[in-house]
Amino acid sequence: MYAKVDNVVLKLLTGLFGKGGVLLDPDLLEMYTHDEVPGLKAQPEVVVRARTVEQISKLMKLANEKRIPITPRGAGYGLSGGAVPVCGGIVLSLEKMNRILEIDKNNLMITVEPGVITGKIHEAVEKEGLFYPPDPASLDSCSIGGNVAEGAGGPRAVKYGVTKDYVCGLEAVLPSGEIITLGGKLVKNVTGYSLVDLLIGSEGTLAIISKIILRLIPLPRVTIDLLVAFNEFQSAADTVSAIIEQHILPTAIEFMEQDSLLACEKYLKKELPLREAAAFLLIKLDGNRKEDVEALCENVGETCLEHDAIDVLVASDRSTQDRLWEARRVIIEALKSRSPVNHMEDIVVPRARVNDFLREIKKLQEKYEYPIICFGHSGDGNVHVNILKEDRPQGKWARTIPKISGEIFDIALSLGGQITGEHGIGATRRNYLEKAVGPKTLQLFRGIKQLFDPNNILNPGKILPD
Ligand SMILES: Cc1cc2nc3c(=O)[nH]c(=O)nc-3n(C[C@H](O)[C@H](O)[C@H](O)COP(=O)(O)OP(=O)(O)OC[C@H]3O[C@@H](n4cnc5c(N)ncnc54)[C@H](O)[C@@H]3O)c2cc1C
Repeated sequence: MYAKVDNVVLKLLTGLFGKGGVLLDPDLLEMYTHDEVPGLKAQPEVVVRARTVEQISKLMKLANEKRIPITPRGAGYGLSGGAVPVCGGIVLSLEKMNRILEIDKNNLMITVEPGVITGKIHEAVEKEGLFYPPDPASLDSCSIGGNVAEGAGGPRAVKYGVTKDYVCGLEAVLPSGEIITLGGKLVKNVTGYSLVDLLIGSEGTLAIISKIILRLIPLPRVTIDLLVAFNEFQSAADTVSAIIEQHILPTAIEFMEQDSLLACEKYLKKELPLREAAAFLLIKLDGNRKEDVEALCENVGETCLEHDAIDVLVASDRSTQDRLWEARRVIIEALKSRSPVNHMEDIVVPRARVNDFLREIKKLQEKYEYPIICFGHSGDGNVHVNILKEDRPQGKWARTIPKISGEIFDIALSLGGQITGEHGIGATRRNYLEKAVGPKTLQLFRGIKQLFDPNNILNPGKILPD
């Protein structure tokens, strides 16, 4: 049982954050009731906006003492309800802690506050000829703190990995209010258990991340993109395997079905290239020498044609590349505009099993008679599965979605996969966690949570099932 935010607590919060840092107006609170999961909402009692780690520390001490739940929030662009205050209490917004503190060119490291928008990090380091590869499609809106808390990925994961591959140091505030510093500007570090890795992907349930040190690499000088159209998804899947078998590791290999492209056309109100095809691959190649990347492009283009591609568009300048990627970047919004009520799963399977997974999903579409549209990261086996309600009855939808999700997870697990590749467990997938990881691992997870947060005040109702 949690305590409520009473007048005494409100007074203490106002003293700590100032009047402007404490939000109570219902109109202002509305935007903190949800993230990007359609239909999931919960009311916070109050929102506080931190500007310093000391404020966070004092807030946590107070909340722990009074037993008030705290829900950390970055930009609220999550897709698993992680920032939704499902147990009420206080939402701690990190949006005002948005400074890039240092770009250290000698050590190739950047130090940032958690509220920095990820795309701003890309812009800042690319001006210096440096590169921060993780690129969630939401990068113009989501925060780096949210990326670390979710262990976010993006299309460039095929070649460069995901957020966890770049985090070298963290400052974090424990539920007790104590501030800890982990790692540093260190490329190597095996000093004890890696708590940095434990906090990455912990979805705000173990500690509040208040500072982040990220590793940078030199910016590749040349990139070439290919949009490849196929009459059958099988040919696209064979192409991905054939490219990888040649030991070519593209920066990104994304796939889309025709239905998602058509939804994007409608959303963008314009005709997109190669719209008649059944399936598409969007492939990015990069490197430092133009001749090398062009040779790679020729090789990949030939492999696509050998595997029944019906057309290959090549883009080597920024504006044509942006045009090729435009549809991929807006798919989620486009599907939402086709069906405001929809449901997305985010499974991951071994790269070579993507086609088997998609074949099984088509059977589910026939069985349940809902449109199911898939897109995602072919190159790393991460498939986003979107079920659209459109104008079907709400009652049947509410009863059917858990069944479809359960079957999607069963298929992914039977192929050696897992139930989420990058969007996290949050509030929406926690009832499937035991099925995904097994009872012993779940018991270890519970032990870790108990150690960090014995009073369960930090983001309750997330990750762990009741
Ligand atoms: C259109 C669209 C496209 C997307 N594309 C991708 C994609 O390609 N790849 C991908 O991985 N995800 C993607 N996402 C999901 C989402 O953008 C990511 O999960 C992102 O990391 C969320 O960041 P945020 O700042 O919005 O976090 P929020 O939604 O605010 O929070 C997410 C979780 O992190 C916790 N949290 C936030 N900040 C902190 C902090 N400082 N300390 C502790 N916990 C914290 C919250 O409590 C919550 O559990 C997409 C979402 C949308 C809407």
